[in-house]
Amino acid sequence: MRLVLLGAPGSGKGTQATRLREHLQVPHITTGGMLRAAVDAGTPLGLVVGPIMKAGNLVSDELMLGVLEERFAQPDTRNGFILDGYPRNLSQANALDVLLVRIGQPMDLAVQLEVDQELLVDRLAGRAKAEGRADDSPEAVRNRLRVYEEQTAPVVDHYRTQGKLAHLDGVGSLDDVFTRILEAISPYADVG
Ligand code: ADP
Repeated sequence: MRLVLLGAPGSGKGTQATRLREHLQVPHITTGGMLRAAVDAGTPLGLVVGPIMKAGNLVSDELMLGVLEERFAQPDTRNGFILDGYPRNLSQANALDVLLVRIGQPMDLAVQLEVDQELLVDRLAGRAKAEGRADDSPEAVRNRLRVYEEQTAPVVDHYRTQGKLAHLDGVGSLDDVFTRILEAISPYADVG
């Protein structure tokens, strides 16, 4: 199945995507993870995006589309995928629709994990201590949450309008949230 996870920073997308990958046996495509790998490897892309990510800003749509097109050219995406971190604004959502139609793999479902702002801030502060991610500084976190509200939240409506949105409560144990996701995707899970 072809699935996109939507939710603010700290909403648990990455954690749930990892579990879903095992369950569905399809690749987990995480744009944040791909960019962090480029930064760590010091590639030309990494050198450009490192400072942008550190500040909690969005990388340009043009660069991101290139990253995504390259990823979808890999044969492992042919049996489905879990997309996490893209699209992050309406222009990316439209570009993704065009790309997926072109490769004959339109999105089945967008799963939105809803978590209120206070809990997000707590979770991100906890992760900052545990993982030391460059963009988990208090200032970058505030900016990422603002960018989410301004640019990414409208993407939810994009999928709602297409009748492809599952809006889920992202608060609870990891198992609870995972169970909610499995219920939401069950009508699609057999679709190759
Ligand atoms: P989170 O959801 O916790 O903010 P991600 O790991 O998804 O973190 O993304 C980290 C950073 O990578 C973003 O703040 C942004 O700078 C960059 N990034 C990831 N995906 C995209 C995207 N689709 N468009 C623009 N920038 C992106």
